[in-house]
Amino acid sequence: MTAAGEDEDLTDVQFFEIPDIRLLSTEQNEGTTCVWCADPLAPGVGVDLCPGFRWAPRACLSCYPIRAAVASTYRDLYAHWTTCKQCETAALLGERLCDEAMPGQAALLRARTAADKSGPVCFSCHDPITDQELTGGVFAPLEWTGPSATHRGFIHTGACMWRESAL
Ligand SMILES: [Zn+2]
Ligand SMILES: [Zn+2]
Ligand SMILES: [Zn+2]
Repeated sequence: MTAAGEDEDLTDVQFFEIPDIRLLSTEQNEGTTCVWCADPLAPGVGVDLCPGFRWAPRACLSCYPIRAAVASTYRDLYAHWTTCKQCETAALLGERLCDEAMPGQAALLRARTAADKSGPVCFSCHDPITDQELTGGVFAPLEWTGPSATHRGFIHTGACMWRESAL
């Protein structure tokens, strides 16, 4: 039995966190070593990342919660972002997102740091979003659908957002 939130985390981890299949070793694709730290996994130990699939990537119990936190904090912030008028206005003006969004942004950054994720690149200008911009809250989460998958990324607020919303 898993809670609904845990199922959602697993789905998000499957879509957004597991490294590309071509970047994984044979052992990682077979699930005998962790997809993130490559530590060996004894049978039955760790988290089955794609239950029911022939592809059987698995994760160790230290890596999985770290990646699940990246997925869930992003999901929470994005959910806020898509429904908050105040954030929308602030973002178009290049101002920091609303007070309610700030703890969520901080949680997302902490989770990304714990997962050793380097600074994200802006969807619009392709420049890195600097540490100052990240801590100052002048960025927003952005999901977009490509030819075969949905992607999660980040965008600078202000001019970068204007360019994208004009499309
Ligand atoms: Zn691991
Ligand atoms: Zn807001
Ligand atoms: Zn930008």
